[in-house]
Amino acid sequence: MAPLIAPIAKRKNIVIVGAGFGGLAAAQALAEAHADITVIDRRNFHLFQPLLYQVATAALSPADISAPIRSVLRRQANAHVMLDKVTGIDREKRVVLTEGRRAVPFDYLVLATGARHSYFGRDDWAPFAPGIKTLDDATRLRARILLAFERAELETDPAARRALLTFVVIGAGPTGVELAGSIAELARKSVTRDFRSIAPGDMTVVLIEAGPRILPSFRENLAQAAAQSLEEMGVTLRLAQPVTEVTAHTVTISGRVLPAATIIWAAGVKASAAGRWLGAETDRAGRVKVGPDFTTAGEPDIFVIGDTAACVDEGGKALPGVAPAAKQAGAWVGKLIAARLASTREPKPFRYRDKGAMATIGRKSAVVDLGRIRLTGGAGWLLWSAAHVWFLIGFRNRFSVATSWLWSYLTWERGARLITGQEIARARAPDIPIRQQDAA
Ligand SMILES: Cc1cc2nc3c(=O)[nH]c(=O)nc-3n(C[C@H](O)[C@H](O)[C@H](O)COP(=O)(O)OP(=O)(O)OC[C@H]3O[C@@H](n4cnc5c(N)ncnc54)[C@H](O)[C@@H]3O)c2cc1C
Repeated sequence: MAPLIAPIAKRKNIVIVGAGFGGLAAAQALAEAHADITVIDRRNFHLFQPLLYQVATAALSPADISAPIRSVLRRQANAHVMLDKVTGIDREKRVVLTEGRRAVPFDYLVLATGARHSYFGRDDWAPFAPGIKTLDDATRLRARILLAFERAELETDPAARRALLTFVVIGAGPTGVELAGSIAELARKSVTRDFRSIAPGDMTVVLIEAGPRILPSFRENLAQAAAQSLEEMGVTLRLAQPVTEVTAHTVTISGRVLPAATIIWAAGVKASAAGRWLGAETDRAGRVKVGPDFTTAGEPDIFVIGDTAACVDEGGKALPGVAPAAKQAGAWVGKLIAARLASTREPKPFRYRDKGAMATIGRKSAVVDLGRIRLTGGAGWLLWSAAHVWFLIGFRNRFSVATSWLWSYLTWERGARLITGQEIARARAPDIPIRQQDAA
């Protein structure tokens, strides 16, 4: 006799790799789905990368800009979190392979593994000119910057001292501009009050850009306003001057060698290894070429989103490598999978909604381009601050960041001026790497 009740369909496994902006948005859009969702990340926290430069320059603490993934997904009963690093994908067996020797089965897979630095073929520059992509990068850079002040305070050789107080940022996109402005403020206002032998005029902050202007993705007049603000803060701009060499203590531009103890890379990114895992076609930055539905050829159940994908939407717009693009893609893919699981109508074709661009220059100036609304200076900074506080995950983070900014605004104090980790051992070492011969 035929069964009276149809057998309950087996729950599908949805695996999301990466709990950044894209991966979390996908997981949250699947909250009501009748499926088991496994979110795999090599870290146990979600990171708000747009404020990493504030950790690197001692304005915020690491916990202010991160939130445990388990807490974010606490109330989502169908979501499971796995701390592990993905190393590959077996497309035949439909499993994700991890460093912890797991083989995690999937029916649907969303890859949202982001991007890392690109040194345009000069990976040998990486140890001398670190970039910021992770919290570890930011705290190491913070230590490097603060150590330069500690060493300069004790240095008696004038050339070595000058080099210790020279900070070079390579790349004048939003991250480079924000870093240069924040270092200039840290150097000239916050730090000098606590050191006996360092005066504000001793410091040099140089922002180098290969292209003809800073902030190439912004309108020209806004970029000009930002350049003016930076120069008022004492940042030296070196435009249309590509870097030709970087060593431990020097940067070469236009044949000129500039001695500097702190060199920071903010010039380029390349995608994660997702393209290699899939054996898929990638662009020059290693991003997986996907269709407007974020799938790769022949794999309708595997989606690649965010910084690790090269996508042109239904309207013909190439998606930029920014947080809103990753979030919108994640939310759309989540809804698409949910609709397929429930056999309901699929969402309309994906269209990217460009919400504009913002960059801050120090603690009271920013440029904001929201299409019709364009702001500079203090008004821009207020909007920039409100937007960044609003988009942080978690009330504790919002409260903590807002109060830190208010305190710093009123007092110029940078509360997170801590040298931590292995860098402290180097701080105590008497040897100062920059000597007369390097600085010559
Ligand atoms: C310093 C900096 C400043 C920025 N400023 C802005 C800004 O002001 N505005 C803006 O819109 N955008 C900004 N961006 C860009 C924005 O942060 C990215 O576009 C966005 O984070 C992309 O989201 P995603 O989900 O693709 O990747 P991510 O947010 O980078 O998340 C990727 C996740 O994948 C995980 N992961 C990677 N590899 C593996 C693996 N093998 N196994 C397991 N997990 C893995 C990572 O741990 C991470 O959690 C900035 C980026 C940086 C670095």
